[in-house]
Amino acid sequence: MHEEIIHTDSTSKEKQNYVMLELGSTPAYGWPAFKQVVKRTVNGELFVGLWITLKEMGKTLFKGGKHTTMYPFEKMPISPRYRAIHNMLRLLESGHYRCIGCGLCEKICISNCIAMETRYDENQRKEVSEYTINFGRCIYCGYCAEVCPELAIVHGGRYETASEQRASFSLFDDMLTPIDMLKQQQEFAGFGSVTPNADAAIKKTPLAY
Ligand code: SF4
Ligand code: SF4
Repeated sequence: MHEEIIHTDSTSKEKQNYVMLELGSTPAYGWPAFKQVVKRTVNGELFVGLWITLKEMGKTLFKGGKHTTMYPFEKMPISPRYRAIHNMLRLLESGHYRCIGCGLCEKICISNCIAMETRYDENQRKEVSEYTINFGRCIYCGYCAEVCPELAIVHGGRYETASEQRASFSLFDDMLTPIDMLKQQQEFAGFGSVTPNADAAIKKTPLAY
C-alpha cells in the first residue's frame, strides 16, 4: 500500500512526487522480535539470499562472470586523453627526437618542474642537452603537452608513478621512445596531440586562398 503525495513548490512551480511506503512497526526486542525472526526465516528469506549468493558464485567460477580485475596482472583500459607520465616522441622518418628546444613547455609549466638546457651542435643546430621533469612536483595539468609546437611531448598512459627513486623516470631518455620501438610509436596518441580527425575538424577561414 502506498500513498502518492504531489508537492507543488509555489516559487519554482515544479512538481515532485513522493511515494510513502507502509513499513509497519518493527519490534526491537522481546517476544515480538523473536516471532518476527522466526517468521522471516520460515518464510525462506534467508535461503533466498543464500541461493542468490550461490548462483552468483557459480556464474563467476564456471561462466566467466567475474566483476573484479586482477590488478596488477590485468588493467582497465584508460582514456586516450588521460594525463599520465609524459612521453617524448621521435620523428618517424629520421628517428631523431622531435623536441627543438624552444623552451615553451618550461616557460608554461605552472609547477616549475621542467628544467632544460640547450646547445648548438657541430652543424650549428640547436639540440637539447638536458631535459628533466620533476614528477614529485608535476601536477599533470597538461599545459606542456598542449603548448608544444612540435607535438614532441605528450602525456602517455603510464599512470603507475610510484618509485623508490624519484629521478628514475624524470630524464629525457627515460621518456623518449626507444629507437627499436619507433615502429610502435603511435601517430598521434596521448593528451596534447592532435585528434585523429583533426584535418576534417579544421574549418577553412572565409579568407582562405
Ligand atoms: S603537466 Fe603541467 S605541471 Fe607537469 S610538467 Fe607539464 S606543465 Fe608542468
Ligand atoms: S615545447 Fe616541445 S619542442 Fe619546445 S622545448 Fe618543450 S618539448 Fe621541446
